[in-house]
Amino acid sequence: MPRKIIIIGAHAAGVDAASAARKKDRSAQITLITKEKKVGYSRCGLPFVLGGHIESFDDLIVFPESFYKIMKLSLLTETTVTKIDPKTKTVDIKDNLGKQQSLSYDSLIITAGATPRVPKILGLEKKGVYFVRTIEDGQKISKALKAAKSAVIIGSGLVGLEVAVACCERDLKVSVVEFLPCVLPFLLDNDMADRVQKMLEEKGITFVLAEPVEEIIGSDKVNGIRVGQRVLPADVVVVAAGVTPNVELAENAGILLGKTKAIKTNSKMQTNLPDIYAAGDCVESVNLVTGEPILSQLGTTAVRQGKVAGINAAGGKSEFIGTLGSWITQLFETEIGGSGLPAFMAEKYGVNSISATITSKTRADYFPGALPIRIKLVAEKQTGKLISAQIIGGEEVTQRINALSFAIQKEMTAQELAKAETCYAPPVSETWEPMILAAELLLRKIN
Ligand SMILES: Cc1cc2nc3c(=O)[nH]c(=O)nc-3n(C[C@H](O)[C@H](O)[C@H](O)COP(=O)(O)OP(=O)(O)OC[C@H]3O[C@@H](n4cnc5c(N)ncnc54)[C@H](O)[C@@H]3O)c2cc1C
Repeated sequence: MPRKIIIIGAHAAGVDAASAARKKDRSAQITLITKEKKVGYSRCGLPFVLGGHIESFDDLIVFPESFYKIMKLSLLTETTVTKIDPKTKTVDIKDNLGKQQSLSYDSLIITAGATPRVPKILGLEKKGVYFVRTIEDGQKISKALKAAKSAVIIGSGLVGLEVAVACCERDLKVSVVEFLPCVLPFLLDNDMADRVQKMLEEKGITFVLAEPVEEIIGSDKVNGIRVGQRVLPADVVVVAAGVTPNVELAENAGILLGKTKAIKTNSKMQTNLPDIYAAGDCVESVNLVTGEPILSQLGTTAVRQGKVAGINAAGGKSEFIGTLGSWITQLFETEIGGSGLPAFMAEKYGVNSISATITSKTRADYFPGALPIRIKLVAEKQTGKLISAQIIGGEEVTQRINALSFAIQKEMTAQELAKAETCYAPPVSETWEPMILAAELLLRKIN
């Protein structure tokens, strides 16, 4: 009898789980079930369609129908899994016409993802207020922006800022409201975040920080928001206040949640129930610096965990060791990225840290097109072990963040990084690589 694998959800984690399971077990019956009509598309690309960098939302579909056929995967769209019964090893499903049935599994993988967090703000039900998660959300926002002159974005995380930039690129007057005191508040230290904010202000975006939105105003359609004593005009409001893991189905089946209230798994992505795995935005991960549970909620983490879950669910052996939450974005022409535990987070976890920040150039000084790049490195004070890298501007930020993420993961010290070898040619780099200069300064401060 072929092994029956059921996957709940068909996005980053789900599709990667299916693909990995298929590679491991050529004869397994693999079924993906999702509530959504469109599947296997990149949520990450939504802001860039809004900003006009990508022509159509359909261009975001990474896995077209042909993929499921080639991989021999059954795909049930617009179908909801309503119950998991671990005793009978079945799931109950209901399609968009109301038809219900029960499917049995040998292995089950839950990749139910996350849902936009709904902040407690009066007036969220008004026309012109949007959340941003699905292709349909993107299409609605895009349509609304055509007739709009002003937009307010609630939340200054990665998604909030990317959407703010997109609105600005469409010539709207844009304000971002954030209830914490700086932009990218969970990703950057204040000194770096201030620079990002300044860069965006120079491009015309207005910020209201450290104040929660009190009310969305307008009759049935939004025409502004009230924050503190101020009213900001808005024809469109986009709420980007983070996401909440979808755990209800798992919890009802007796699957344990962790400290973060997301599904708890071991490094094989196994839940506490036999033959049930979970991956992606609905699970908690281990932070590689602190060893503590965290919510990663990044596509990169989702695909890695999905792959591990898929291999194990198909009888193989694979592990996901944890994450540094390495991230990258591009806001206008500025690349910004980070990895590890920023200094302010280190303090929260009781890690005694020390940091150094340098500004350098990305090419030889005399070479046309050299751009300034700012790098902040944070290390554990006692050991000199690197724990965070944050970069703003320049070129090749992605690959520098990747290199520094490898360094943090391998517990490299500032001393080791300061002596690491890098390459050089005038059109593409400086003689002294900026990462090395940052490590040297950090080492001097440690000593
Ligand atoms: C605008 C935006 C930009 C982003 N940019 C980046 C980026 O640049 N880099 C990055 O790393 N990450 C980015 N992310 C995050 C990334 O998209 C997510 O981490 C990733 O989508 C998580 O994948 P997932 O498969 O775990 O969950 P999801 O993508 O949430 O998919 C889960 C699916 O399961 C379905 N489902 C849930 N419950 C059921 C049920 N009971 N029955 C059937 N189906 C169910 C849901 O409808 C959903 O379709 C971005 C996210 C957004 C919204």
